Amino acid sequence: MTWTLWAPWRMAYIGGTRGDECLFCEKPREGADRRNLILFRGPSTYVVMNLYPYANGHLMIVPYRHCSDLGQLSPEESLEIMQAAQRCTRILQVALRAEGFNIGFNLGKVAGAGIAEHVHLHVVPRWSGDTNFMPVLADTKVMPEYLEVGYDTLFPHFQEQGR
Ligand SMILES: [Zn+2]
Repeated sequence: MTWTLWAPWRMAYIGGTRGDECLFCEKPREGADRRNLILFRGPSTYVVMNLYPYANGHLMIVPYRHCSDLGQLSPEESLEIMQAAQRCTRILQVALRAEGFNIGFNLGKVAGAGIAEHVHLHVVPRWSGDTNFMPVLADTKVMPEYLEVGYDTLFPHFQEQGR
């Protein structure tokens, strides 16, 4: 399998909103996890692939509860987000041979948050030399097929217990 390391970084399109609804609230309610690229559901958070990834395997950890501020997260939600991040890094190391990670919150529109009203943690896998691909592929479109292949690669890992 050949993996393209970099896909476009289209901050403005990450998530976005349909009307007044919040996509991070709406998607888990739809019951179409594969179509919505939801990889895993925990008790209070879920893991979803970014529709407009910065890199192959770009994941997001999202609380089900609509919170716009980091301080609104409960201790349980905060712990679950960190545990999910640990799990995501292990799975990305195994499944995609990720060598490093950028993990972070973009809080507020000024910080580049696509959906500022609902906090989410980005997990972006990195490989040595991957930045070289950025200028080359900056305008490449993300194909849905490409995301589905990524989904099918990662999904079984998230179903295993204790990882
Ligand atoms: Zn929401």
